[in-house]
Amino acid sequence: SGAIDGKVGKVTAEQTSTGTESAETTGGEMEIRTLLILGASGDLTGRLLLPGLGKLIAQGRTQGLSLVGAGSDDWDQDRWRERVDEAFGSCTEGANDAGLRELRKVQENTEYHMVDVTAEGALAELLGSVKGPAAVYFALPPAVSQQACEVLKPEDVPEGTRLVMEKPFGSSLVSAASLNGTLLRLVPEDHIHRVDHFLGKATVFNILGLRFANRLLEPLFSNEHVQKVEIFYDESLALEGRARYYDKAGALRDMIQSHLLQIMALMALNAPATLHERDLRDHIGSVLRASSVKPDFAKSTRRARYTAGEVDGRKIPDYVAEEGIDPARNTETLAEIEVSINNSRWTGVPFILRSGKALGKKQKEAIVTFKPVNHLPTGFKGVDAPTRLRIGFGPDTLRLEIDVNGPGDIFTLDREVMETNLHSADLLPYGEVLDGILTSDPMLSVRGDIAEDCWRIVEPVLKAWEANEVPLEEYAAGSSGPAGWETSRDDTPMRTV
Ligand code: NDP
Repeated sequence: SGAIDGKVGKVTAEQTSTGTESAETTGGEMEIRTLLILGASGDLTGRLLLPGLGKLIAQGRTQGLSLVGAGSDDWDQDRWRERVDEAFGSCTEGANDAGLRELRKVQENTEYHMVDVTAEGALAELLGSVKGPAAVYFALPPAVSQQACEVLKPEDVPEGTRLVMEKPFGSSLVSAASLNGTLLRLVPEDHIHRVDHFLGKATVFNILGLRFANRLLEPLFSNEHVQKVEIFYDESLALEGRARYYDKAGALRDMIQSHLLQIMALMALNAPATLHERDLRDHIGSVLRASSVKPDFAKSTRRARYTAGEVDGRKIPDYVAEEGIDPARNTETLAEIEVSINNSRWTGVPFILRSGKALGKKQKEAIVTFKPVNHLPTGFKGVDAPTRLRIGFGPDTLRLEIDVNGPGDIFTLDREVMETNLHSADLLPYGEVLDGILTSDPMLSVRGDIAEDCWRIVEPVLKAWEANEVPLEEYAAGSSGPAGWETSRDDTPMRTV
């Protein structure tokens, strides 16, 4: 079971009957009746949102929902329905009759509207025509989402409407604060969902269960026992046709500013009293407010960009030779930063956050390296590598690397790895995210102040990189990054110091 089962405001299949007018979440909010997806023809909608929604419906976790798609394309209803059918078709496995019936109902009743959301009054009119309360999902280019919100007036937004914003949320501290201001003019904070789909990954959220339900681990997560924490998200994927977005973002903005800082906060927070969104997000916010990157950026950060190479048998061109790339932007495809959390639990422990594209080896995990024991009785022989706990985010695994007496000499230590597969999600990450939105639970969304803090942490680094204070290194696609990066990437346990 997921750590999120106890969240407040959630409607379970048992609690709702048929999604009737009176259905309320346990938090007393009216249940969302319509999911309005703006950007119906886009990549996010087709690849992630519709399949996530399909799974959610097929599992009986939402009923009586209307689905409305909208976009600037002149699509007829059949074209949109085909898109929905295609996505929902992949969601039927394991569904019961009620789930299948519900899927069909949504498929048959879904509508498409052609609308330019940036035109004065257009989105307001659409909002007035759908069954409320609605969740409005801005699956649009970020600048278009911002413009669409700017042209809305508070009176255009029916009561109970939820606004769902995708990443990137702003492009700097100032722009994120300004976007927060625009949204808060329209709806209250708890009606805004800033999506970070990593929070919908079962293993990411279950960091909490692992840490706080195990006496063996909970007391050890502090500067008294931990030497360093590494959070890696290295991908073998290259640009995959997303040059237009990625070249303006880069690895630091795309992955670290959002997803990896959230994982860091879950690894570092003090135990919240409850799993209520306010408790939990207060604790996440408290970690991030205490966090910063050491200002000697040439030492505390690294950046690099891939050149031509081969990944998994696929030829990858030079990053700068890809269509839509402006080489003058110096966009990094691999970024690493060392974050300090300046509170009594973590002062002195480096949190190293790294993510890159087109790497030869996928490595998606959080690694806690423990300090050496205070005194190892003289006479032991063999490995003296530190104990490490590794939480893998795909495949979802838990590994404990530990020294034990192996076969042979009883005073010779051997490294053993205890490994277990973690329960993977029943839903796709976007299914969990949508579940949170449709049940009016902001737990899996990023609160406004937290989004701003994430920018505050990375902004000085972005400025130093723009000023070329840190060299932009290069690595061949398919390699393990520029020289020297493999030290922390290497599977071999690092020697104690
Ligand atoms: P796309 O460019 O694929 O799609 C954007 C959609 O917005 C298109 O349907 C486009 O229609 C529509 N659109 C653009 N301008 C308007 C307008 N004025 N009025 C109405 N519709 C408009 O983008 P993505 O789907 O990739 O991304 C959407 C958001 O999701 C972005 O914020 C992105 O950062 C985020 N995201 C995307 C992920 C992904 O894997 N794709 C992953 C995580 C986040 P048209 O084609 O007619 O212009």
